[in-house]
Amino acid sequence: MSCVAAGPWGQICAGNPRNKARGCDGYGCGYYTAPRKDGRRKHLGVDVICRDGSTVYAPFSGMIERRINPHGGRNFINKGVKLRGSGFCVHMFYIRPVTYRGRIKKGQKIGEMLPMQRVYPGITSHVHVQNCNHFNVTRYLKICFTFVYSISFQVAAGPWGQICAGNPRNKIRGCDRLGCGYYKARRGNRLHLGVDVICRDGSTVYAPFSGVIGGRVNPYKAGKNAINNGILLRGSGFCIHMFYIKPVRYSGRINKGQKIGVMLPMQRVYPGITSHVHVQNCDRSNPTGNL
Ligand code: ZN
Repeated sequence: MSCVAAGPWGQICAGNPRNKARGCDGYGCGYYTAPRKDGRRKHLGVDVICRDGSTVYAPFSGMIERRINPHGGRNFINKGVKLRGSGFCVHMFYIRPVTYRGRIKKGQKIGEMLPMQRVYPGITSHVHVQNCNHFNVTRYLKICFTFVYSISFQVAAGPWGQICAGNPRNKIRGCDRLGCGYYKARRGNRLHLGVDVICRDGSTVYAPFSGVIGGRVNPYKAGKNAINNGILLRGSGFCIHMFYIKPVRYSGRINKGQKIGVMLPMQRVYPGITSHVHVQNCDRSNPTGNL
């Protein structure tokens, strides 16, 4: 986790006291100027992580001036407000406001997070906060970017090749309501001893290095049949398990970058999760640096 210096704004969403920003998920990234829509647009706000239905607070004292809609069509989440005061002016999107007009104090409930998962299944649900003049709001937020942001954008690329079609930089699952994707994330009273590489259901999965497929390995002892499949891959000095894929075969040599399987329908088993290939070193050491 990396935090920028504390800003003047208060907590925005219940459950996220440090205003953690959305990392990257299958739909994009949450930081200011992140690319949107095939690179033609840029994201001119910051996405503060907020679970659907959570209480949302005013980050500063001011006046709610009016309703603002983020976009046409997507009705479940097409709501927001313009808030001005204390030297700031922002749009806050994807909330059901308590009111569209009137004074509000910093820390007071300003609304509720709308059901973003219904519109973008698997996204990291968030309040979008944008300056009225589109300038960068990050420094006001005491913002903390999650681990996924740091490793996706600040650590050098490792020796492994691309794992999933559509995710050329091997971005790791951030945190969703079912858990986080980084190494040693909590899983109840266990630790997650692999990394979850974001991969949409049905995507092609590639061999991250050249080696030999050493057989089938299942992530679960029983049940969860739609996604209970995977393989062992060994070679080039590495040994890993790759879970939640339907392999093209269970033995034989494979070259780096060659198709090794297809992402299984994880949304059927865990609706709303950020679908991912779980990659785990055979000795359970941290594979993150290899990505
Ligand atoms: Zn995992």
